[in-house]
Amino acid sequence: MFINKGAELSRICKERSISIAEYTLEIEQEENGHSREELLLKMQKNLQVMRESAQEALLRPMQSVSGMTGGDAYKLHEYSKRQTLCGELVVLAMARALSCSEVNVAMGKIVAAPTAGPCGVIPGAILTAAEKLQKSDEEIILSLFTASAIGILIAKNATLSGAEGGCQAECGSAAAMAAAAIVEMMGGSPEMALHAAAIALKNILGLVCDPIAGLVESPCAKRNASGAINALISADLAMAGITSIIPFDEMVDAMFSVGRALPCELRETGLGGIAATPTGQTLKKKIFG
Ligand code: SF4
Repeated sequence: MFINKGAELSRICKERSISIAEYTLEIEQEENGHSREELLLKMQKNLQVMRESAQEALLRPMQSVSGMTGGDAYKLHEYSKRQTLCGELVVLAMARALSCSEVNVAMGKIVAAPTAGPCGVIPGAILTAAEKLQKSDEEIILSLFTASAIGILIAKNATLSGAEGGCQAECGSAAAMAAAAIVEMMGGSPEMALHAAAIALKNILGLVCDPIAGLVESPCAKRNASGAINALISADLAMAGITSIIPFDEMVDAMFSVGRALPCELRETGLGGIAATPTGQTLKKKIFG
């Protein structure tokens, strides 16, 4: 069975000199009876869907079914060809994250990692980091197992649902998963990967879930963009040897207790936060009458 805590995971990986990705693959083989090759193949299919959804809305503007959002991934990608303030890597990561989000609300195919709302965070961050670092598909696939491990630990000890824990549980968890994955992809230790995940969670602690009209569009898409950047900066902080003063397991507990303390208006009901603003209410009326 997959272990329950990040500290145990770190200890086991250290004792056996294996990565989080290798540990996760081993447990998956034991629990589900799949061979290593079958699991890698399954993850390769996920990677392919991530790649396609991260690219699709860069090439042509995509609108959501409601008509409320869309076209931003295309705009950002076009803008990045002319100039960028933050640099090409950052802007491309954001554009890819937006693309997945736009494909999702246009009813296209995405990988819900860990759920559909933050589906752009992991592809935006990991694909862009992998491109810069010239990583092979095999290395990217392994990093997705690292991401899975972080997701499993958060799901076991807290929640991945905006309705239960706010957006910190969705975009925050996705950023934590991606940050740890990138650290392992860069050759960082399991301990460093857990620090990256803890930092990513800390950066977004308390973020509410407040989708306009209850649709997973706004603010979700832009939070995917910022989630991808959260993952990249958290990975860089950890790779520089910077640690999270609060360990990963305690960060997960803190995220869960903050989520439970949020009023229901701020947990995916579309009743609070930006959903409750005059503009949010007007948009809701326009969409639903
Ligand atoms: S705001 Fe809510 S619905 Fe949107 S991504 Fe965040 S958690 Fe999901």
